Amino acid sequence: MDGTLPQPPDRTAMLAALERLVLAESPSDEKARCDACADQVEGLFREQTGIQAIRHRRAERGDHLELRLGGTEAPEILILCHHDTVWPHGTLDRLPFRVDGDRVSGPGSYDMKAGIVEVAFALGGATPGRPIVLLSTSDEEIGSTSSRALIEERARSARAVLVLEPATSGGAIKTARKGIADFGLDITGRAAHAGVEPEKGISAVEELALQILALKALANPALGTTINVGVIEGGTRPNVVAAASHAQIDVRFSSASEAERVVGAIRGLQPRLPGAELRITGGIDRPPMERSPAGGQLAQLAQQIAAELGFELSESSTGGGSDGNFAAALGVPTLDGLGPDGGGAHADSEHLLIGSWLRRTELLRRLIERL
Ligand SMILES: [Zn+2]
Repeated sequence: MDGTLPQPPDRTAMLAALERLVLAESPSDEKARCDACADQVEGLFREQTGIQAIRHRRAERGDHLELRLGGTEAPEILILCHHDTVWPHGTLDRLPFRVDGDRVSGPGSYDMKAGIVEVAFALGGATPGRPIVLLSTSDEEIGSTSSRALIEERARSARAVLVLEPATSGGAIKTARKGIADFGLDITGRAAHAGVEPEKGISAVEELALQILALKALANPALGTTINVGVIEGGTRPNVVAAASHAQIDVRFSSASEAERVVGAIRGLQPRLPGAELRITGGIDRPPMERSPAGGQLAQLAQQIAAELGFELSESSTGGGSDGNFAAALGVPTLDGLGPDGGGAHADSEHLLIGSWLRRTELLRRLIERL
C-alpha cells in the first residue's frame, strides 16, 4: 500500500457494462443465447484486463470462459461466476433493465451479471500477488453438469475460491451453503373399476400419499435437513383406481453425514401397499458447503477490509446451492456471496444496490491483492 487513495470504481462505466450483459438474455438451456452473452463477457474482460479469455467449447450447453492473469506466487486464487440466468428469453419486455436511484433491476442483474462486472472492474485495477484463474460458466442455474469437472479441476490446486454470487439480502457474505439432492419417484399400481371391483386395484395415488408422509418423516429441520415434495401427478379419472403416480422431490442438507443418511433412506424406501412398485431415480446434485476454519479466516480477512472501507460485513449461511459447494467439498477455503447486496433472486423483484456494488468492487480488489 502506498498510502494514496485508490481510484473509486467507475459507476457509469460499470452500469453501462451491466446493461450490456443484462440485455444479452441468457437462459441456461439456450446455447446460442448463452454463447452470445459469453461474447459480451469476453469483451468486458478484455476491456478491463487486456487479456483474452480461453473458451471451453460445449456442444449442448453454452461455452464456459476462463481468464488467467496476475502474479507468479502459486497456488492461485480461483474466482467463480456464471453468466446464465433462470429467465426465459423475452423477460426483458416485461422486466426491462432499469436504474432508479441506488437500485438496478432487470433479469439476471443481481444473480449474477453484476458479480461478473464487479470482478472485471476489480481485476482491472488490481495488482494481485498470486495468479488468478477466473471462470464464467453457462449452466450454474441448471446444476452445472457441463462445467462441474472444470470447476473441480481448477479448485483442486487453488489456495482459495471466491464466488461472485450475490450477497444475502442485507449484504452478508456466505460461508456455508446447504447441499442439494433431487429425486424422482415413479409408482406403479394396478388399474381397476372404482365401483365394480375396486379390490382388484392397487392405487398408485394412495401409495404416493403414504410415501409423501414417509418422506416428510425423514426430514430433520433442526439439523438443516429439509424435504420438499414439490410436484406430484397420478391417476386418470375419478372412477379408475390409479395405475401410476409420480413425484419430484427436493432435499437439502447442511452436512455430509446428513446427506448420507437421508439419501440412503430415500433410496431404500419400500412400498406400503401390497403389490405396489417404486422406482427411485436421482441423487446428490451439490454436496454441502460446510463452514470450515479456513473458510472462516477468509471471511475474517474480507471483514477486516470492509472495516477499512468503512462498512460492516456480516457472515451468513443459506439453503441455496452454488458452484461454491463443489469447491468447498474438496476442502478448499471458499468465500461466497461477494456480489452486491440486493434481493429478489429468481423473482420479478430481482434488483441490486449500486452503493453496495461499488463498495464490494473495491473490497474484492483489495482481497485479491492480499490473499
Ligand atoms: Zn447465481
